[in-house]
Parts: sequence; C-alpha cells; structure tokens
Amino acid sequence: VCPDARPFVLITCEHAGNRVPPRYRACFRDADEVLRTHRGVDLGVFPIAAQLAETLPAPLLFSRTTRLLVDLNRSPDAPDLFSEYSGNLPDTVREEILSRYYFPYRRAVTQAVEAAILAGRRVVHISVHSFTDVLRGRTRELDLALLFDPARPAETSLCERWLAAMASIDGTLRYRKNEPYAGADDGLTTALRTMFPDVSYAGVEIEIRQGLIARASVRRRIARLIARSLPVTTGS
Ligand SMILES: [Zn+2]
Repeated sequence: VCPDARPFVLITCEHAGNRVPPRYRACFRDADEVLRTHRGVDLGVFPIAAQLAETLPAPLLFSRTTRLLVDLNRSPDAPDLFSEYSGNLPDTVREEILSRYYFPYRRAVTQAVEAAILAGRRVVHISVHSFTDVLRGRTRELDLALLFDPARPAETSLCERWLAAMASIDGTLRYRKNEPYAGADDGLTTALRTMFPDVSYAGVEIEIRQGLIARASVRRRIARLIARSLPVTTGS
C-alpha cells in the first residue's frame, strides 16, 4: 500500500481546558464553580485526544482556554460565540479576544487541513468532545456518538464503518449517530465542510459521555477503542 493513499488524520480538541487568561479574570470573578463544570470545559477529553494523537499517530491541535471566554466550536456570528461572562464586554475587548484566541486557532486548523489536501491527501478530521450526562433534568441515554453530515456520502460511510467496528470490539457501550447534537449544526467541522468537498475532507465530531470517562483507566480504554476501530488505520 502506498503510504500517501492513506488519509491524513488530524485530531482537534476545542474545549480541552478551563483556563482564563489573566487579563480577563475580572469577568470570571464569580465563575470558579461553573468553570469546573461541563460549561467551562469538556471534562475528560484532553487525555483521550492526546492518546489518539500519540497512538494513531496524528497531529493534535487543542485549546486550554475556557469556552466561556470564546467558543472555538462556534461560527463568528453565532449567538453563543461568547458566554454570559464575556458577551457584555465592550466591542473592542471582544475583538481582541477573537484576534488572540479564536481566529488563530480556527486558522491553524484550516491551514493544517488545507496543507494536507494540497499535498494530495484526503483528510479525516476528528474533533473530540464530551457531553454532560444530565442536561436540564434529562438523562442522556448514550455513551459515544459520531457527529457527521448525512448529506456527505464519504463522511457518512466512514462514520458507519467506524461505529460498526467499535460495536464489534466493545459491545457494552451505547453508540449513536448525530446525538446529542446534529453533525450539521454550527461548529468547526461544519465550517470546514463549506471550504473542502466531501472527497477531500471528512469532519467528524466524537461526543463522549462525561460520566463514562471520569476514570483514567476508562479514558485509556476508550481512546484505544476509538483508535483501533478507525477504518483508515485498518486498511479499509
Ligand atoms: Zn466540546
């Protein structure tokens, strides 16, 4: 097999941390508790993203700055780009946040995808996220989901083969497609799909239940499962 026939895999982790840069700490005076919850950070995902990057292997782009400052997984015009902590800042400060934290990250991911495509590779972009077990009193009945755009045949086929492979390796988890969010909703992969066609780019968000990955041993197991089942590493 010609190595260049294999896709270029890129791992990203937009909500990897809950850091507040010192110059914006005043906005987050009363937010210590919130910052430690799913609202401030995707709990449990960074070690999984790092293990995926190491074992596949694949480059990893991530941000440790809290999504409550600016959400890297939203479009610049999304109503929830900023949170209740950052949304009322003056225009100039919000623009500064975008130019320091938002645009550099979005640009780095876009450039990594573009460079691989220009080099003749098909890109599989895996954006790793976690979701809270209970939202507004409702328990979510799933463990691990792949989010993709059903209007993109290659991306859809990749995700279907991937989920089938995961289920055959570990049948104890509840797998879903496009839950608890739709893959075509606003987000980083959705933005990249508008720039790169299905033949060149597959953008997949992995959503993992936070309660499942509270323990390090389980995080390692889940990362191994995701890496082993990815169709592009098994030669299919
Ligand atoms: Zn997330």
